[in-house]
Amino acid sequence: MSNVVERSEPTPCTRGPTDSGVELLSARKATLGEGMTIRRLIPQRSRRMVGAWCFVDHFGPVELPADHPGLRVGPHPHIGLQTVTWLVAGEVLHRDSLGHEQLIRPGAVNLMTAGRGISHSEESPENRGPQLHGIQLWVALPEAHHATEPAFEHVAELPRIDSGGMHITVFMGEGLGLRAPTKSYTPILGAELRFDEPGRQALKLNPDFEHALVLVEGEAEVAGHLLEAGSLAYLAPGRSEVAISTRSSALLMLVGGAPFEEEVILWWNFVARTHEEIEHARKDWEGSDRFGRVDGYVGDPLSAPALAGRLK
Ligand code: MN
Repeated sequence: MSNVVERSEPTPCTRGPTDSGVELLSARKATLGEGMTIRRLIPQRSRRMVGAWCFVDHFGPVELPADHPGLRVGPHPHIGLQTVTWLVAGEVLHRDSLGHEQLIRPGAVNLMTAGRGISHSEESPENRGPQLHGIQLWVALPEAHHATEPAFEHVAELPRIDSGGMHITVFMGEGLGLRAPTKSYTPILGAELRFDEPGRQALKLNPDFEHALVLVEGEAEVAGHLLEAGSLAYLAPGRSEVAISTRSSALLMLVGGAPFEEEVILWWNFVARTHEEIEHARKDWEGSDRFGRVDGYVGDPLSAPALAGRLK
């Protein structure tokens, strides 16, 4: 997806570290196209990254009637990051400048490594169902790999564990006793936690990682704190376990990783180290073949916003 939250509701209240070391953050809301709400959980003023995860958007759930155009995100570029698409309901068609055309459904992951530059589009396919609900996440690439060759992976067979009433799927990195086959460049974890029924689980965490839990559906408590829909619980490094209680069926995302020590700039759909790098990428998108061409998308590519002032 493309970064659309340039203007949004003011950053809401955050609740700093509690005595159990949990920090609760509410999302900022924005609208993507007609009738689709996006909740931006990361970045926020008080929490810019979790490990190498630098962007977490929760979109939907939404019912899109048959006469609605559905999701339509025209061709746009990325550099310096990986995009991860994870659906809870519905389907999305991805096309990119490397020639991939891939339909994604719940349970599978799309991982696009932008590296030195790629462009892609995302749209609802023809003959879609009415529902759409998912998460779009970005991972910052470390300096040593920020300009790597662009790549795209679609993985439908992911490692899963069932523990009591909880079903864990790991789609990125390693943790909870599982390792994803997707390519990562820093110590990282991305997982879906699905609870079929009310229950309580103790999750084993890597104490070298910081983590965040995002409530996607249902109701849950994290370390005794009620996590509201569209909010995130941040857990600092040094923690080896967290208790999750659910009052109903529930769905949470767990993201984590070694704290990312490099300073990066996130501007529009780019992750970079310098203003010049962003300026260059912006200019290249507007008038060069650096980002290739996305075939098959009916509609215009997205234009980069103006660069207002020098980025730090
Ligand atoms: Mn995108």
